[in-house]
Amino acid sequence: MIEYIFVFLFGLVVGSFLNVCIYRIPKGLSIVRPASLCPSCGKPVKLYDNIPVLGYIFLRGRCRSCNAGISARYPLVELLNAILYVVVLQRFGFESVSVLMVFCIFISALIVITFIDIDYQIIPDRISIPGIPLGLLFGSTLLPDPFLRSELLGFKASFIGFLCGGLGFYLIAVLGKLVFRKDAMGGGDIKLMGMIGGFLGWKGVIFTTFLGSLFGSVIGIALIAWKGRKWGAQIPFGPYLALGAVASLFWGQEILSWYLG
Ligand SMILES: [Zn+2]
Repeated sequence: MIEYIFVFLFGLVVGSFLNVCIYRIPKGLSIVRPASLCPSCGKPVKLYDNIPVLGYIFLRGRCRSCNAGISARYPLVELLNAILYVVVLQRFGFESVSVLMVFCIFISALIVITFIDIDYQIIPDRISIPGIPLGLLFGSTLLPDPFLRSELLGFKASFIGFLCGGLGFYLIAVLGKLVFRKDAMGGGDIKLMGMIGGFLGWKGVIFTTFLGSLFGSVIGIALIAWKGRKWGAQIPFGPYLALGAVASLFWGQEILSWYLG
């Protein structure tokens, strides 16, 4: 029990840092300096107001200096990161601390990519490009195969995953451009899938693509029906791919054995 509480609290603290990354990376700002500022008045956020989730509750969602509203997304990103860390611990973490750490870094990178893609329709190279060698390095050496939990993924599966993800999505992008005469797939999605392939292997790429398209269609249709979004409106694909990758990581083995009967 104590492990879960510790990992949850650690996830909240990292989540708070992810908010800084989501806000600053697309603006090309440093993620280290300065300390957190209010986006409205530019005053530094006091240390005790910066406590994940609780700071937001104490302040009732308003800046202490200028009273401007603070987006509820800040505590939600912190909670999301913390909850996913707890699931990583439950699914993988008791075997090895390094596996726990690597998957937590992977999950946090996907969270940052998701929210930046929602805000700006871009996937930041500052995350996906370093993610590719890291995925290959850890995938080849220490990560378990998410579809065969008891075995290591290994270099071959990780490298083929990187090729399938990167090259596969590059081909989809080229074909999409020929057929639809517009960019169906951004360069960011290609690099993101290369990174996911390194971490999850080629089966992970297939599952992520399948689940991502499924989530994308269901949520896309819901948005059209519910919010009156237009067909063919630019909807970023990155968040669905990230969701597909997380689902493959956590439940790939169960989905695969269910599918194979
Ligand atoms: Zn303020």
